[in-house]
Amino acid sequence: MSETLKVVENATCTFCGCVCDDMELTVEGGRITKAKNACVLGKAWFLNHHVEDRPVAAIEGRAATLEEAVERAAQILARARYPIVYGLSDTTCEAQRVAVGIADRIGGCVDTTTSVCHGPSGMAFQGVGEVTCSLGEVKNRADLVIFWGSNPAESHPRHFTRYSVMPKGLFVPNGRKDRTVVLVDVRRTKSAAAADVFLQIKPRKDFEALWALRGLIKGVKLDPGIGDSIGIPLAQLEDLGRRMKSCKFGVLFFGMGLSMTRGKHLNAEAALALARDLNRYTRFVAKPMRGHGNVTGADNVVSWQTGYPFGVHFGRGYPRFNPGEFTTVDTLSRGEADAALIVSADPMSNFPQPAREHLQRIPVIVLDPKLSETAKVAAVSFTTATYGINVAGTVYRMDDVPIPLRPAFESPYPSDEKVLRAIDERIRNLQESA
Ligand code: SF4
Repeated sequence: MSETLKVVENATCTFCGCVCDDMELTVEGGRITKAKNACVLGKAWFLNHHVEDRPVAAIEGRAATLEEAVERAAQILARARYPIVYGLSDTTCEAQRVAVGIADRIGGCVDTTTSVCHGPSGMAFQGVGEVTCSLGEVKNRADLVIFWGSNPAESHPRHFTRYSVMPKGLFVPNGRKDRTVVLVDVRRTKSAAAADVFLQIKPRKDFEALWALRGLIKGVKLDPGIGDSIGIPLAQLEDLGRRMKSCKFGVLFFGMGLSMTRGKHLNAEAALALARDLNRYTRFVAKPMRGHGNVTGADNVVSWQTGYPFGVHFGRGYPRFNPGEFTTVDTLSRGEADAALIVSADPMSNFPQPAREHLQRIPVIVLDPKLSETAKVAAVSFTTATYGINVAGTVYRMDDVPIPLRPAFESPYPSDEKVLRAIDERIRNLQESA
């Protein structure tokens, strides 16, 4: 590996859904030593990245060649009766596309980490639709910015400065001074310091509050008792409703505090319906705060290829979407899946016990740059290069804008896309010769 110093300008950080594409990376001796413009999370992502000294592949924990591991993975997937493909939010769209093709070829399920974060929002989009915009429009136009059930100060540190709160824009020339920022959450998080108005809602009362706002903006008189029920006095809710109707361009960013608490997709539907209603009076959008670097890309790619964003089953030869039935936590917890292809995800670290136990009973194939907990129990594991740092390609920012990756240096390991293509090709050969 070259010891010379190299500077990569306009590189892209894929650590969170902000996908900041203004990084200036200094590379020395196969390591990133400086990451100018990165936030604290981005710096940790870049500066702690090092290529692990592991075999390119392992079968049952023993080192194997790439070809041997591809053969074994293809045999497992081609023979399985209920295979699942899961993960995909920390890899390129190019790799995601091949993974969806494999699920289609083997008649399995394809599901992404969306199903354990903003899956309910994906269901709400299908049910209600989405009034949307890019983060560039937010930067240039938004004079009312509401964060609901999300804490960007800690989860998306540059969101405020790059897109939503601080920047000066075409129609908000004074930046922060031209915007009103509201935070609705069950506790006073670090993001509250950036807000003009903080509304502390009672836990699990989001749907009621959003529905009450829908009523208020339509002129419905509400019982003052609603305040006690949701934790926000009616006068404050009325004030928020007035601000929403009278702003020039409003945006409601909602996080997992909305999508993964009681009500789930109904909460997200209420937020989307509220934004839709507000367009009778002004321009208003609602957008989810997406977490993983390319989880939005996963939603897009799975949607292009199947018509649905996650939790899709190809067992009948055509795509069927049914969250709760075809989502990975469920297929594993019920003991239905008989093989798993896991790409850039670590379900052994974060899935519930019954799902983890079943993963240990079935053959698992893992593609990951790190020796994850899931890679440790895998029948076949591949060490792959890290997207964005070692691999070029495309990722989608949280507002569905595709961003190119400019890798900093080469990895000795193959990309997810290369490994997946080899597995797909071998499965096709096996199927043709059967
Ligand atoms: S905000 Fe997110 S994408 Fe931007 S530098 Fe920080 S971690 Fe990376």
